[in-house]
Amino acid sequence: MPEPGAGRYAPSPSGDLHVGNLRTALLAWAFARSTGRRFLIRVEDLDRVRPGAEQRQLDDLAAIGLDWDGPVVRQSERLPYYQAAIDRLTAAGLTYECFCTRREIQQAATAPHGPLGAYPGTCRTLTEQARTRFRDEGRRAALRLRAAATEFEIIDDLHGRYRAPVDDVVLRRGDGIPAYNLAVVVDDAAQGIDQVVRGDDLLPSTPRQAYLATLLDLPVPHYAHVPLVLNTEGQRLAKRDGAVTLSDQLALGNTPDQVVAAMARSLGYAATSSAELLDSFDPAHLPREPWILDGNGLLQRSRCP
Ligand code: GLU
Repeated sequence: MPEPGAGRYAPSPSGDLHVGNLRTALLAWAFARSTGRRFLIRVEDLDRVRPGAEQRQLDDLAAIGLDWDGPVVRQSERLPYYQAAIDRLTAAGLTYECFCTRREIQQAATAPHGPLGAYPGTCRTLTEQARTRFRDEGRRAALRLRAAATEFEIIDDLHGRYRAPVDDVVLRRGDGIPAYNLAVVVDDAAQGIDQVVRGDDLLPSTPRQAYLATLLDLPVPHYAHVPLVLNTEGQRLAKRDGAVTLSDQLALGNTPDQVVAAMARSLGYAATSSAELLDSFDPAHLPREPWILDGNGLLQRSRCP
């Protein structure tokens, strides 16, 4: 029997999970479990770690009824694997050092040519002399992919065929830390993850991740980018939007299952627990629109727009 594939939730431990994060986690879990997959948690702690946040996030995921397989994986413990992938791309002539400052990139990326936000390749053809000069100026080099493609297409369960620009994405930041786009590709493959369910704010980055996977001879997973939870102004939910974390809700006297029920309602389900949602879960009928939420009215006024 082949190993069942795996789905995952990959939180960044930069603070407490809000109901938008919890809803994405609930969906990732339901996608994985309803298709007989394992469900893994990976803590993406290469950036912005708040002490204690990881444990609180795991506690909240368990409190809303999610379970996962095997130990939690932390990216900070996997640095040699990212370096090995970088070495492999470098050996194939597919990387170059980039000395651009953030500001230079912003200016170049908003220039009226090339895809919006894409790195225009300023440092692609630097001479050794120019590199030495930048180093002497004290600039630290990021390492970028020398992309041969300009666009790449993926297939997403909710969005169908999706094509987006592929640019010379950063593989290792100037401070030496592997970049998210590289780490996520290396980890999903290493963990046997063949189903990536996450917020649709990450959809535009997905073609470049899939392209990177193909360059590393890694399988491209199935994708499902699910709608986000937005506040009443149409912005991504944040702490200032009221009682948006599980502990905020518990402090108001609500139970984790009541929070799950509100999230389930927003997805078109009358379930009162994660297990009940899973029983009738059908990804084909998920809303494609964001859930507009008034954090303070989470349990009274949750609705599908
Ligand atoms: N760590 C990312 C986040 O919390 C998620 C990345 C992913 O799911 O690929 O937004």
